[in-house]
Amino acid sequence: MKKHNFYAGPSRLSDYTLKATAEAVIDFAGTGLSVMGISHRTAEFEDVMLSATEIVKELLDVPQGYSVLFLQGGASLQFCMAPFNLLENNATYINTGVWATGAIKEAKYFGDVIELASSADRNFCYIPKGWEKNVSKDTSYVHITSNNTIYGTQYKQDPDVPVYMVADMSSDLFSRPVDVAKYGLIYAGAQKNIGPSGATLVIVKDEILGKVSRPIPKILNYKTHIDGKSMYNTPPTVAVFACLKTLERYRQLGGVQAMKQRADSKAAMLYDEIDRNKMFQGTADFDDRSNMNICFVMTPDYKDLESKFNEFVGARNILGIKGHRSVGGFRASVYNAQREESVKALITAMKDFEKRHL
Ligand SMILES: *Cc1c(COP(=O)(O)O)cnc(C)c1O
Repeated sequence: MKKHNFYAGPSRLSDYTLKATAEAVIDFAGTGLSVMGISHRTAEFEDVMLSATEIVKELLDVPQGYSVLFLQGGASLQFCMAPFNLLENNATYINTGVWATGAIKEAKYFGDVIELASSADRNFCYIPKGWEKNVSKDTSYVHITSNNTIYGTQYKQDPDVPVYMVADMSSDLFSRPVDVAKYGLIYAGAQKNIGPSGATLVIVKDEILGKVSRPIPKILNYKTHIDGKSMYNTPPTVAVFACLKTLERYRQLGGVQAMKQRADSKAAMLYDEIDRNKMFQGTADFDDRSNMNICFVMTPDYKDLESKFNEFVGARNILGIKGHRSVGGFRASVYNAQREESVKALITAMKDFEKRHL
């Protein structure tokens, strides 16, 4: 029986990624060895790492002067590694939720944090506006979280500020074109929109490194990983392989421009139903709604039916739509690999539930 997988992360991977990875686990690149059991120093694996970094550059149109790295430790390690390498005196953070708050906490170990804007006043249901003009030219960088996985909010364009930005793009990288030149550092845990957990993608502008006065432990220094071509120590080989396959798939389908069209169309279908159906309502402000994580609750009159709806969809093999505990209700994650068929199955379930209870 086909499952409809709406988990927020780790999340659905394309059949293309799964098949290619399963094959390579048995026989990798005709070596007769498993990709799990071969040295990362072989020509075959070095080719995987090189291809993975090259395809990132191609898909995102990464300008000259940037390095692409596959690291470990998740986005959470980047919360600390970014300020360790980049924060001198102070940095500016925009607080749009749990993950941004986590990044702020870590940055405070390394200097002052200017929390220039926050949407905490309404449980992070919107993206703060108008703060760009208040960014000081003397701050090290501005940190944003481009898509807020838990609350279903998303920046609709790359902000304009007088310093470079650092961005956590864990849950929307490769779902849209990005103006990489505005960013000094972009990071993303792979398990939302790039591949399985275990790999973390980092895109860093070379010239911003080496400017802070503090000593940096070797493993936490981006330069170490640039010099080591992401192989300073053993990389997560299987995860990187699966990321490469996922990115190849994105290229086959037309790249990030095509990914954006598909994401917008899937999200619009689901939001239309949420707005139409009297039993449900969206939680994010209209203009800031994410096309990756779609958060909704039951309208006040039907609040007590939430667990019933969860059971109702479960019986239809619709999995992973329970909302994060800090928002409640439901969250449908519709990353690049999400099938339109699954989105339609969820919409049908919402309509049928309405017929039964309204
Ligand atoms: C999931 C997520 C994280 C945490 O990622 P880990 O890889 O588990 O450290 C951080 N930021 C955002 C936006 C996320 O969606």
